[in-house]
Amino acid sequence: MKTETLAIHAGNQITDSRKPVIQPITLSTTFMHHEGSMVYSRLENPNRESLEKVMASLETGADAAAFSSGNAAGMAVFQALPVGTHVIAPNDMYHGLRRLLTEVFKDKLSVDFVDLTQPETVEKSLKPHTGLLWIETPSNPLLQISDIRALSDIAHKKNIPVVCDSTFATPIFQNPLAWGADMVMHSNTKFIGGHSDVIGGILVTKTENKIWEKIKTIQSIGGAVPSPFDCYLLVRSIKTLPYRMKGHEENATRLAGFLESHPRIDEVYYPGLPSNPGHRTAKMQMSGFGGVLSFLFKGSADKTDQFIANLQYFTNATSLGGVESLIERRAKVEGPGSKTLPNLIRLSVGLENIEDLISDMESAFEKIS
Ligand SMILES: *Cc1c(COP(=O)(O)O)cnc(C)c1O
Repeated sequence: MKTETLAIHAGNQITDSRKPVIQPITLSTTFMHHEGSMVYSRLENPNRESLEKVMASLETGADAAAFSSGNAAGMAVFQALPVGTHVIAPNDMYHGLRRLLTEVFKDKLSVDFVDLTQPETVEKSLKPHTGLLWIETPSNPLLQISDIRALSDIAHKKNIPVVCDSTFATPIFQNPLAWGADMVMHSNTKFIGGHSDVIGGILVTKTENKIWEKIKTIQSIGGAVPSPFDCYLLVRSIKTLPYRMKGHEENATRLAGFLESHPRIDEVYYPGLPSNPGHRTAKMQMSGFGGVLSFLFKGSADKTDQFIANLQYFTNATSLGGVESLIERRAKVEGPGSKTLPNLIRLSVGLENIEDLISDMESAFEKIS
């Protein structure tokens, strides 16, 4: 089966003899004991199994583990590492996962945040006790592109497992396992959910090895699992994911072009732009550039906020990947200690008509000058 077909069919596990077309939601916390039955819904549940199955298929992995958030999925990986492990993480990393490493795992893991766009610097950062290379590509919020194959080759020479946060790409535009990563992580909250109404995360593994066994134990015994309804919503959303991604990309490409030539903009970060430093690598390992872009507004933080307030169709809110366009001044959200420039705007381009989005931007620019 090809991607669009898998997205629609791979999550269906219908056992009801009345043959509903859509798999029902199984809310039951427990199952009557019989040969081959499920036991208890923290350990396994039909809707979670469906979600894990469709995501493993789309990422061509051996198995998947769904969690109640993207951060919980990341946390399961960090928890699976022996205490004292050295972790290499991107210097442009989703700030929630960065905080997990610097605050929650402060006394258990040591971390170096490295420029992953330069594989040589990663090689130089390796230590004898390095036990994880965490990649995020495209990165949040700068849309930096890291070469998954080159980085995985460096890590694998020292038997270091590689995990790739592929949230911005989704399985539609990038399959990190095919480029050498051992595991791929997604925040299901973003494009996979796609309608800004469910929090979730998932890990997909290439092979069912030792660290994977640990992660599955952390999932079922730790218990940060998504509800059957959350899983149902995600399986439903995934059916339209290939087409939504095409639409997000088409709109983001048009908007990136518009912004790049606008006099009030200093720089646009979007890997689809030929001027972007990551463009060549993105073209090699991705089949599309996604629906998120960032840009530098020419002006102070206050002026940047004013511009955002002038917009009508872009809601000023955190998160990304929904059908509605969202916009935010990133440093304001990340708070004190953020390394993000004060005039950096992150944009999640939705599926509205692009002419409406561009004319909305045009009038917001006019009102500011
Ligand atoms: C949102 C996000 C996460 C965290 O996911 P949650 O579902 O919010 O916990 C991780 N990585 C990236 C790149 C994200 O954008």
